Amino acid sequence: MVFYDFCNYGLALNNLQKALSAAKKLYPLIFYYIRICEHIVSTPLTIEDISYEKYSEKYNKYPKWIRWIYPKPKNLMRCKWCGRYTDYIYPNVPTYGFMKGENSCTFCGRMYPMPSWLWDSPDGRAYSYFRGSFNGEEFYWEFEKDYDPKPKR
Ligand SMILES: [Zn+2]
Repeated sequence: MVFYDFCNYGLALNNLQKALSAAKKLYPLIFYYIRICEHIVSTPLTIEDISYEKYSEKYNKYPKWIRWIYPKPKNLMRCKWCGRYTDYIYPNVPTYGFMKGENSCTFCGRMYPMPSWLWDSPDGRAYSYFRGSFNGEEFYWEFEKDYDPKPKR
């Protein structure tokens, strides 16, 4: 889903809730996306994040011919774990199991900070769980709480 993959958590949440109210059977497939979106939508922005949003908004309102005068805002997206604006990292950037910093949030350090319709799906999460893709314990605790799998680790 485009809104989700582009970190537009508010619009994604709106659409996911509409889908859920139209078809309750979708719940097992989409509850995790909804949880992530609700978490980020309810996470307050820091002062730096607010000024980044304001500057980006202002910059995008300038006519194109005048934009060259102003520095272009960086391509920052809200981390799906902590909600801070961080550099966008393509969700499939590999870490090869040891370069964990290559795909981690600058602020909270958690791996795979960008939302991904594929990797945040039940299959994607199960793959990451059994492969041991993440550092830290939060991802595994949450997965075990959701699915109660036979732990492989
Ligand atoms: Zn983060």
